[in-house]
Amino acid sequence: RKDVNVDSPYNLEEETRVLEENDNIGYFIEKKLRVWCRQPRGVWASGTIESTSGEESVVSLANENLVEVSTRHLFPANPEILDGVDDLMHLSYLNEPSVLHNLKYRYARDMIYSKAGAILIAVNPFKDVEIYGKDFVMAYKQKAIGSPHVFALADTAFTEMMNDGVDQSLIISGECGAGKTETAKFAMQYLAALGGGNVEIECRLLQSSCILEAFGNAKTSRNDNASRFLRVVQLDPAERSYHIFYQLCAGAPLTLRERLHLKKAVEYNYLAQSDCLVINGVDDAQEFHKLMEALDVFQFSKEDKDQVFEMLAAVLWLGNITFQVIDNKNHVEASNDEALIGASRLLGCASDELKHALSTHRIQPDKDSIANKLTLKQATDARDALAKCIYACLFDWLVKNSFEQLCINYANERLQQYFNRHLLKLEQEEYELDGIDGVKVDFVDNQECLDLFEKKPFGLLSLLDEELNSPDANDSTLANKLKQHLSGNSCFKGDKGRSFGVRHFAGEVLYDTNDFLKKNQDTLNTELIELLSSCEGQFPQTFAIKMLNQSLNPDAPKQGVGTQLKHQLFKLMHQLETTKPHFILCIKPNRKQLSSMYDEDLVLQQLGCCGVSEVVRISRSGYPARMTHQKFAERYVSLLLETNVSQDPLSISVAVLKQFNVLPEMYQIGYTKLYLRIGQIGALEDMRKQA
Ligand code: ATP
Ligand code: MG
Repeated sequence: RKDVNVDSPYNLEEETRVLEENDNIGYFIEKKLRVWCRQPRGVWASGTIESTSGEESVVSLANENLVEVSTRHLFPANPEILDGVDDLMHLSYLNEPSVLHNLKYRYARDMIYSKAGAILIAVNPFKDVEIYGKDFVMAYKQKAIGSPHVFALADTAFTEMMNDGVDQSLIISGECGAGKTETAKFAMQYLAALGGGNVEIECRLLQSSCILEAFGNAKTSRNDNASRFLRVVQLDPAERSYHIFYQLCAGAPLTLRERLHLKKAVEYNYLAQSDCLVINGVDDAQEFHKLMEALDVFQFSKEDKDQVFEMLAAVLWLGNITFQVIDNKNHVEASNDEALIGASRLLGCASDELKHALSTHRIQPDKDSIANKLTLKQATDARDALAKCIYACLFDWLVKNSFEQLCINYANERLQQYFNRHLLKLEQEEYELDGIDGVKVDFVDNQECLDLFEKKPFGLLSLLDEELNSPDANDSTLANKLKQHLSGNSCFKGDKGRSFGVRHFAGEVLYDTNDFLKKNQDTLNTELIELLSSCEGQFPQTFAIKMLNQSLNPDAPKQGVGTQLKHQLFKLMHQLETTKPHFILCIKPNRKQLSSMYDEDLVLQQLGCCGVSEVVRISRSGYPARMTHQKFAERYVSLLLETNVSQDPLSISVAVLKQFNVLPEMYQIGYTKLYLRIGQIGALEDMRKQA
């Protein structure tokens, strides 16, 4: 999941302003119970209420300051015994400040993992927290530690796979830089260790990430190691292109350098356009050696490796090709310089052929039709398209392909539904297993938003495809078409001009249709495809076949990237359906990649985006506090006045509930556990304190 711009940050306020609703503020004053109150600049502080006029209350903060705040902004705090519990579900009050406080409390103690029911939450520490060593692997393997950890989750998945014979999946989500890649690596590390000392499997699993990262990751302003696609030809300041380019330039041995005619990174336009060529603390040459080792582990042949490097160097040289004006109509042709020669040599074609392909465009695909000359902008675009396409094919050949923002958000929307429905199912199953029927578990389904994308014939993706196949389409006609057909969907918001908004699960996002059609179409023009197919090397030829299949199937209407993604997603969902999923939500505590800095608003926003609010809401609609009869009886038996109670845990529990007049709608008694509504444990804890 990448960053989304969220209009309305998530809040639980609507549901948890119990102080006012239940009119129990007098109780909070009398018992000196802790509350949270919002301070200037949005910070939460805890304190106790001194007095109230109804609308306004005076709160004595922990630092002994007295503040007057609107009673509406007061939220009950959890009893201290619940500070830092490892599952948010165990909190009596699940309001916003309590959830934030709990994660912060744990984060400050380097307990970066917490549970929210079935989800594992991982707060990125941005430092080595020393919990991934062999000792920890052993401890989790022997189940000697119970605290939440990605190892524990991986262990559960593995155990369930072995016991039930069901495939398992780990679904890791989170914003850019939140720690998804690292988390996946730790999970793999653990699974590799479980492999029973099969060194080869272990080695392969771990090396795979080295290869994936070299080709798929780059430095962005938000993450020095961001998983990214499509950033070959254009960079922002402080960003780098894919690591592999810098690694190659810095680390290639002499023979390879000579063969590729390789220069320093700074001499390639695609790399030098950003002022950022190195990453602090990273030695690209050394990384290149690691990559070579990883490629060997995966038994890439020498020929394949050579071809990969040739294609990479070709991309770099393409970026250095310049054009000169050749007539009074501003038509251009590629200059005969070392870049043109270098690129064509690496691709395996004559430099004249490359020059021609980069400077002309035939309207009709057949060879004899008239070729138009190109302007500088058109020729540069063609050059960049070729570079992108080669890299994309290369990456595809290595692994899988790319997404852009809309696609990413759409993909998230699908995952979110899967996630919600799964949690809902889990929740209902737990009640049923414990003998409780008829608990209504409420949840927000995002089907409407998915319909916006997927409906036929007038969903966003179909409309995009339709425009792709229409000769007069442009970004404005597309925007109009979307507005015309989608306005009936409540998740769609028409906007001025070429823009439109989508109400995603995570919040509203405004999209600009600028270049939508171009980006939805991932094919090259015919000249360039023909050029690739005529090249000597095996790689360019394979790439050309792939591009041809995509663009020149005369019977099939063109299918955009979006629709292709839809099919991939359906396939993925289908695969996931056959697995038991485990969810990990990664959270970044600040935008600066700093350790020990916890930005409450940022955390809150991510909790909302990633559906934690939904988990919370699902559980709030039921009985979130759960305790085994045994534990409940042990904890509260001392409160019991009645002495004539049979000593089994269930009877004690029931007697305690009766004695304190806990209303029947406030709890359910299961076979093994007691299920309580929000706030009930808190009240019992207060009694216990006084007893
Ligand atoms: P993107 O979506 O941009 O690919 P990501 O979610 O994959 O981002 P990562 O690359 O996994 O993010 O993490 C970013 C950085 O955060 C890492 O390079 C590392 O420095 C730090 N980090 C993440 N998780 C941990 C962890 N468990 N322990 C220590 N550092 C971590
Ligand atoms: Mg990543």
